[in-house]
Amino acid sequence: MILTALAPFASDPTHSRGRLFAQAAAPTRNDYQRDRDRVIHSSAFRRLVYKTQVFLNHEGDLFRTRLTHSLEVAQLGRSLARSLGLHEDLVEAIALAHDLGHTPFGHAGQDALDACMRAHHADDAVGAHNDSPGFEHNLQSLRVVDTLERRYPSHDGLNLTFETREGILKHCSAANASRLEELRPNDVGARFLEGTAPSLEAQLCNLADEIAYNAHDVDDGVRSGLIDFEQLQAVDLVAEHAAHTLRDYPQLSGRRLLAETIRRLLTAQVFDVLAHTQHAIQEAGIDSAQAVRKHGKTLVAFTPSMRARSIELKQFLFANLYRHEQVLDTTARARQVVADLFSIYVQDPTVMPAHYQRYTRPARAAADYIAGMTDRFAIQAHARLTGYHMFASAPGLYG
Ligand code: MG
Repeated sequence: MILTALAPFASDPTHSRGRLFAQAAAPTRNDYQRDRDRVIHSSAFRRLVYKTQVFLNHEGDLFRTRLTHSLEVAQLGRSLARSLGLHEDLVEAIALAHDLGHTPFGHAGQDALDACMRAHHADDAVGAHNDSPGFEHNLQSLRVVDTLERRYPSHDGLNLTFETREGILKHCSAANASRLEELRPNDVGARFLEGTAPSLEAQLCNLADEIAYNAHDVDDGVRSGLIDFEQLQAVDLVAEHAAHTLRDYPQLSGRRLLAETIRRLLTAQVFDVLAHTQHAIQEAGIDSAQAVRKHGKTLVAFTPSMRARSIELKQFLFANLYRHEQVLDTTARARQVVADLFSIYVQDPTVMPAHYQRYTRPARAAADYIAGMTDRFAIQAHARLTGYHMFASAPGLYG
């Protein structure tokens, strides 16, 4: 059954909690469409094309980057939204913006920057500032759309709706939520303190993110040669769909076998989420967007058995791909680049562009500047400032 109408529990742009700066409605676009368009035109969005997902951007042209990952999340998200009667434009806006705050070099970059910020915070004599002690990419994504984009004559940021901003801040510690609430009461930090849930569109993006990266990391992992299809047969979700594929196409092998297996595995997860979510919404008697929030618990979810299978796949990827020695070698170099850049910029803020020299805290300026860099920009800046090219001698990465 193909549904196209908005369900009563969908987010409705005409009932939006609005923007940070009031603005007249656009003549031809709803507010969530407008958010999506603003994200696509932002400079942070364009930079995602040169940011690492798992493999560094220069390691091969066919691997996912943050940009293609975000597009895959948007595709899965919209498809699920349409079937559930949720607002597709809101889902797309959140999906395209959800990784805007990622540093260069993926999680290695974020971990390095987090460690630098925490160490600096510990000996920060000023102490009394309203800033989180570390670096966290969800908070940074919110910071990009609220503050760091500079495109409008009268305000900083993209001035997105509450609902898009709420979806972007998918995780937040209680300490960071309290800081956000101090700055702007009753805003996107409140739900982490009150135990309320975000919109179904936000919940859906969260799960679409997970479904997308599990599937594409299998694809990229095999393509890179770091894991092989045989090894993946130890994972139930892969083994089951590989067996079904071979039952239907006994001669299939190589890339087509992998692609068909991944396609089936994605479809199975999508149908699982749809059925389980529709059931959960009905069971909880949810009849409005307000009821979703008050309910407090996550409604967009896998069935327990699919959840277990997804965790098994995730654990496999963690042990065999994300912790592969070749990946660890690159992440060690990446951490060094970020740590060196941070200490150089904090010691001498005049090495940064003029805008970042105007910050009252050089550590925050360095974090914002570094987080906004693409992989290659960071590698080049590091080589220029230190004389060492951390990636020039990297062994012919992944063939
Ligand atoms: Mg993501």
